[in-house]
Amino acid sequence: ITFQKAELVISAPDKKSWPDTDLPEVVLAGRSNVGKSSFINTMCGRKKLAYVGNSPGKTRLLNFFNLDDKYMFVDVPGYGYAKISKTQLLKFGQMMEDYFSQRKQKKGMVLLVDARHKPTEDDITMMEFARYYEIPICVVATKMDKVKPSQKHKQLKEIRRVLDMREDEPLFPFSSERKEGMEPIWDYLIPIFES
Ligand code: GDP
Repeated sequence: ITFQKAELVISAPDKKSWPDTDLPEVVLAGRSNVGKSSFINTMCGRKKLAYVGNSPGKTRLLNFFNLDDKYMFVDVPGYGYAKISKTQLLKFGQMMEDYFSQRKQKKGMVLLVDARHKPTEDDITMMEFARYYEIPICVVATKMDKVKPSQKHKQLKEIRRVLDMREDEPLFPFSSERKEGMEPIWDYLIPIFES
């Protein structure tokens, strides 16, 4: 899939700044440094739509990316950053709560986890959060190029187990480095956007 247009509409600090459109939205969540910005760039065929290696300072903004005036990716701040203050953590929770409870056009969530590591408590919480709002969830295992071929199956199985993933929740291996894994994810996401 290719897009004529892919652009950051707004980095929204609060719900007043959410874009006033009714484009369907898919939320992208994951720990900071998981490869979320790279995922956005790779999936959209852009080099620097989302800023790779951005500082964990911008932990409070929801980034809305408009794709061909058809779909919207909503990039949630990376969580799990050790130095986050309690106040920031509460703000993050409130922002997610606001978004999930009030944003009518939310269609699904992509949870990104690093293929090399066990998902964390924060990942599990995020998963449960989306399940509570009954939106479709898929998990993307990033940086697959860093996993030895002999370990791939085992790692994916472990991610499924730790996140207690249901049969109908797909898990996609992905590598931005090698630009591998985009197609099955788009095949899954398009019907979700259009549901
Ligand atoms: P974010 O903090 O989740 O947005 O993560 P970034 O996209 O900024 O990536 C964090 C780091 O991981 C950067 O140094 C990237 O170059 C690296 N990275 C991202 N995706 C991949 C990948 O598929 N393979 C490898 N080997 N490194 C990656």
